[in-house]
Amino acid sequence: MNTIIITAGGIGKRMGAAIPKQFILLNGKPILMWTIRKFYEFDTAIEIILVLPEAEVENWQQLCTDYNFSIQHQVVVGGKERFDSVKNGLKNATGSWIGVHDAVRPLVDLTVIKNCYSQVEKLKAVIPVVQLKDSIRTIDGDFSTAEDRSGFRLVQTPQVFESTLLKAAYQQSFSTLFTDDASVVESNKVNVHLIDGNEENIKITTKNDLLIASALLNQSTVNS
Ligand code: C5P
Repeated sequence: MNTIIITAGGIGKRMGAAIPKQFILLNGKPILMWTIRKFYEFDTAIEIILVLPEAEVENWQQLCTDYNFSIQHQVVVGGKERFDSVKNGLKNATGSWIGVHDAVRPLVDLTVIKNCYSQVEKLKAVIPVVQLKDSIRTIDGDFSTAEDRSGFRLVQTPQVFESTLLKAAYQQSFSTLFTDDASVVESNKVNVHLIDGNEENIKITTKNDLLIASALLNQSTVNS
């Protein structure tokens, strides 16, 4: 069985709105509902575990009622760090293949999800990445140096792992170097494999991201 843990456990920035960004409306529906639906489209039997801050659980339940959202999922309370939130989600995860996905990435391509979950059976740890389009520089005080961007990748989610490997990695103590699940697994001496992500799979963080996501979603609805 496949599991997806959707992380929305951080209080984080609210893009100037009174509600957390994963609840902001995107083309008439909370962002989080688009995200959950994408994984349900991939696999209607997938085990969906949603990690939320304790203070937002009731609000989410109300939104599900208001928007007639009926995709089955479990709600788990998040922790102080993202690491703690994923760890809480993992306690309920029963699938052989476990993905972790940012709640505010509703534009992940179905093909990317499919590729992650099929490749993981052989590779055990798979993450989607995209190339950089801008030039990059390393900053050192008042100085900066141009870097070769071909040697870097931008990392997206879902990051998908064999269950036992991911659960073992999350037994480690927290480190500030853990920025995503790949970094947690890697610090437990596991090789992480990169596969192609999709450019549209942005992490909606700013108002501009929301505008871009809205346009992309309109286009994909028209095209589908
Ligand atoms: O803060 P950042 O944007 O890197 O968070 C990445 C993801 O981890 C977001 O989906 C956020 O909601 C989640 N998170 C969490 N629990 C925390 C902090 C962040 O689930 N304590």
